[in-house]
Amino acid sequence: MKKEPTGFDVLHNPKLNKGSAFSEAERDRYGLRGLLPAGVSSQQRQMQRVLENLSRKEYDIERYIFLFALQGRNERLFYRVLIDHIDEIMPIIYTPTVGEACQQFAHIFREPRGFYITPDDRGRMHEILSNWPERDVRIIVITDGQRILGLGDLGANGMGIPIGKLALYTAGAGIYPEQCLPVMLDVGTNNKELRTDPLYLGVKQTRLTGDAYNDLVKEFVTSVQEIFPKALIQFEDFLTPNAYMLLNTYRDRVLCFNDDIQGTAATILAGIYSSTRISGHNFADLRIMFLGAGSAATGMADLIHPALCKAGLSNNDALQRLWFVDQAGLLVKSRQNLAEHILPYTQDHPAMSFTDAIKSIKPHILIGATGVQGTFTEGAIRLMAEINDRPAIFALSNPSSHAECTSQQVYEWTDGRAIFASGSPSKIVNYKNKTYHPGQGNNAYVFPGVGLGAVACQANRITDEMFLAAADALADMVKPEDLEKGTIYPPLKDIRAISLNIACAVSKKAYEQNLAQNPYPNDLSGSIKKLMYDPSY
Ligand code: NAD
Repeated sequence: MKKEPTGFDVLHNPKLNKGSAFSEAERDRYGLRGLLPAGVSSQQRQMQRVLENLSRKEYDIERYIFLFALQGRNERLFYRVLIDHIDEIMPIIYTPTVGEACQQFAHIFREPRGFYITPDDRGRMHEILSNWPERDVRIIVITDGQRILGLGDLGANGMGIPIGKLALYTAGAGIYPEQCLPVMLDVGTNNKELRTDPLYLGVKQTRLTGDAYNDLVKEFVTSVQEIFPKALIQFEDFLTPNAYMLLNTYRDRVLCFNDDIQGTAATILAGIYSSTRISGHNFADLRIMFLGAGSAATGMADLIHPALCKAGLSNNDALQRLWFVDQAGLLVKSRQNLAEHILPYTQDHPAMSFTDAIKSIKPHILIGATGVQGTFTEGAIRLMAEINDRPAIFALSNPSSHAECTSQQVYEWTDGRAIFASGSPSKIVNYKNKTYHPGQGNNAYVFPGVGLGAVACQANRITDEMFLAAADALADMVKPEDLEKGTIYPPLKDIRAISLNIACAVSKKAYEQNLAQNPYPNDLSGSIKKLMYDPSY
């Protein structure tokens, strides 16, 4: 029989450790007498201590370091704090602070977390992946660090993103921590500053490209299927051409999705639905303009287009509603050398600047995914407010320092009439004696629930129809009182209920599409709820 761990082995195992919360009986049972101070704390009391420690820190990056050190000491306490205080903690473990954490990753590194793959692992991926201590892996978040938020190529430093996303999978959707695997596909970096940083921990060579890159990913995906056959692979923060290439290569072959393309799209579609409840517009009548034509923006269009078709528009009419602008102006058919993913969205229209395009097209909704701060200029936002009674503005670029505009600017430039959401959390704004609560248009609302839904029914593919269902489920959670406050998303503190609803919607769709491997349960919602991790002792 396996011997029960005792003493230091218990205290130094983050899954078992309860620190000062070990009861008197447990202290006897695990040989902990003398190893802990006499006082026995409840988990609530321990949480109070954590929050006090957090508030004492001057910078969010210090809070980030503190929280992940807690995860390495006492996993259940970490998740208790994260779940009960998601509003305050999410901006630390996720955007915007995770951006800074990635930039400083090699300098604040304390202990390894997650899994690293390098070009040297080609040909022995199966063997290497078998080193991971868990076998029942259900969710893998993988990045190659080439487009970390709007911060560019951060190489192996990008590992902060899969770690943060998976913490949200556990907190937001109750995926068990041991079922989560963060992966860094470290194929080098083209960021010279990193390569010459003596503390940089990644592969110090320029990026692997072409067939060598594709073969490495292929071997990874194949090995995952062999070792973790039930795992969903979430592609995260890949550069746009690779993001589309990987999604198009694998979406019909394995259980996977790209969060920047599909998760963002479902979140923003839900926000658009909610915005029409304020503006009074018919969804099918909307004209939508995107600033930025990377994978985040076209990913949204790839989902809004079928949603418009579902609302009754023809394929062509739906395309006429989606307009793209980049730094060279409106994306029109006469533009040369465009990337393949944007081609379906180029319009038969004269070329023109961003502001002229707003005047000409008169969009109801403006969505920014440029990664460049300040690209929603005062002129552009004021024009939106001239054209629309209630213009809807989404400034989605992360982290906050790269957002297209701030909440303060939007409410001032539209005289408080804008319906506004930002990718990272935005400040509540007081303007002319009224308080505005901007919502957070971030894929964090959707990916945990999509993952939970896929895990629950054991889906073997993720489809666009599932993301449409997720968008509907998220929009359904928005209450009139949220809209009254100016927020087009439900409160983040309800993320577990939101994830459960999204998971039900995604599962149902999987059953409908014959893509679920588990039998249909009697009580879908109840059975999914039972699967959700609870970090209470
Ligand atoms: P990308 O680099 O592929 O695309 C950026 C696009 O913006 C390109 O088309 C580029 O030409 C255009 N652009 C750059 N500068 C511009 C300017 N000055 N004016 C107009 N257009 C300009 O990146 P991506 O993967 O599409 O991501 C873009 C941004 O979206 C990132 O900052 C990322 O953080 C954000 N994003 C947010 C979420 C969310 O959930 N809120 C999800 C995914 C991505």
